[in-house]
Amino acid sequence: MLILGIESSCDETGVALVDASAAATQAGVPRLLAHALHSQIAMHQAYGGVVPELASRDHIRRVLPLSTEVLTRAGRTLAEVGLVAFTRGPGLAGALLVGAGVAVAMGAALGKPVLGIHHLEGHLLSPFLSADPPEFPFVALLVSGGHTQLMRVDGVGRYELLGETIDDAAGEAFDKSAKLLGLGYPGGPALSRLAGQGDATAHKLPRPLLHSGDLDFSFAGLKTAVLTTVKKQLAQHDVGTVAQLPPQVVADVAASTQAAIVEVLVKKALRAVADSGLQRLVVAGGVGANSLLRQQLNAGCAARGVRVHYPELDLCTDNGAMIALAAGMRVQAGLLPESSETVSYRFDVRPRWPLSELAPDRTARAE
Ligand code: ATP
Ligand code: MG
Ligand code: FE
Repeated sequence: MLILGIESSCDETGVALVDASAAATQAGVPRLLAHALHSQIAMHQAYGGVVPELASRDHIRRVLPLSTEVLTRAGRTLAEVGLVAFTRGPGLAGALLVGAGVAVAMGAALGKPVLGIHHLEGHLLSPFLSADPPEFPFVALLVSGGHTQLMRVDGVGRYELLGETIDDAAGEAFDKSAKLLGLGYPGGPALSRLAGQGDATAHKLPRPLLHSGDLDFSFAGLKTAVLTTVKKQLAQHDVGTVAQLPPQVVADVAASTQAAIVEVLVKKALRAVADSGLQRLVVAGGVGANSLLRQQLNAGCAARGVRVHYPELDLCTDNGAMIALAAGMRVQAGLLPESSETVSYRFDVRPRWPLSELAPDRTARAE
């Protein structure tokens, strides 16, 4: 069965086609035939963050051309698609509605079922598309722009929350700190690049909840500490803006910030693996692209005999491939949506949607 997947939860329009037929599936993982992405980052940059109304309008412009592009690249036609999957939530309501509306319209036109996918399930399963895919069960460190969670994953749809951030997400901490350093939006990748030229020991920044004994995170205080550090540097150098600071000073703050975020993520992830008794860690979400995080997790896992898996770099942030993949893995696991005979094509989206509500026996179908 061919599955077309559509992602439109935030500022990336992603479309992908997977083949979930038995012949194309390996260990429950469908084959990715093609995927295409349009990022709206450039459009939102002028505003310093995502403007929801602009995001929705751009998804409308992009989703059909991207679908055509994906089908053409895969050498397939829309008529061959057996299931249309879309991101049902969490995310921006208007943006989600675009993907949902298009997916349901396609499904209705084709007379084929439609499946609403949880965005975080997509992130979580994305390492299955990598050259070194994991096997269940594993501990997952999900580090994205809106979420920071540790989970025990026993199979498709079997997710147990072990700990999460009580305020900002790790990606948010990167982005907010980057903004304070004048690095634009989203600043995570830029901060990480600049950190490579800085001294991570230059500034002592807090490691919130590092010794809390649980698996929760907190990053809101770090942002305040970065602000205080920046102010101190401005005063010391007697300048008014970050742009006037010596570049090395900014790089040192970036490196110290990154080191603080990464240390907490690594320590808690390794503790979660140790507590679970499992031998496998899976990292997912945009911050999973961070090279210092990968270096330190690789070292920590190697020292403990733990296998660690990541998504391919281009599939760490939002994309359609992870949505089509999650739909395909659900189908393979027997978590089928309604049959085409009974599907109603009514749909809703879930802008707020805890992953814990995704029980394995309840499909996230569009109804
Ligand atoms: P969510 O999935 O929680 O709804 P999201 O979809 O916005 O949030 P992702 O697309 O998974 O999040 O990731 C985007 C985040 O990843 C941004 O905060 C971005 O700064 C961060 N990020 C991407 N690359 C890097 C990197 N190399 N280092 C640090 N952070 C990064
Ligand atoms: Mg994004
Ligand atoms: Fe995401």
